[in-house]
Amino acid sequence: MTEDSRLIMGPKEGVNYPMQVIYCGNCSMPIEYCEYYPEYDKCKQWLEKNLPSEFEKVKIGDESSEATGEEEKKRQKRGGKGMIKTKKKEDGPKQVCISRAPRGKKKSVTVVTGMSSFNIDLKVAAKFFGTKFACGSSVTGDDEIVIQGDVKDDLFDIIPEKWPEIDEDLIEDLGDQKR
Ligand SMILES: [Zn+2]
Repeated sequence: MTEDSRLIMGPKEGVNYPMQVIYCGNCSMPIEYCEYYPEYDKCKQWLEKNLPSEFEKVKIGDESSEATGEEEKKRQKRGGKGMIKTKKKEDGPKQVCISRAPRGKKKSVTVVTGMSSFNIDLKVAAKFFGTKFACGSSVTGDDEIVIQGDVKDDLFDIIPEKWPEIDEDLIEDLGDQKR
């Protein structure tokens, strides 16, 4: 018996197949292949007449695939870009940050940022630090003061003393900046 003849003959009596194959009376193919047959409508008519339960399955299959297509369209419509909200700068917490940065082999400077979030004039603040520590102090950026010397620990006392609105808890120690 060749491979081909076995296919044409279909299920044999006395053989246990994992699943019963139902052949279409219109196109003579297993009914799951009917939809590829040009006369699928006629196959469905045959199924409706001879195997109503199988016909229901085919019908449901068709409908569910259509529903999935519909769902897909909806999803595409609903999606979209431009929903990412950018955080506003003024929403950030008010905080002064202090860090130590190396300068040369042995010297280090103290960097203070965030003073302007308390509406403090940076030039006034820089001058105050320079006078207080008797060292160079200058505004070096948008919201940055650099004090020549390691005065980080002193700033935790001096800043709240000079500007009571800046609580010691609002001063963040960023530690040592890396070279
Ligand atoms: Zn068929």
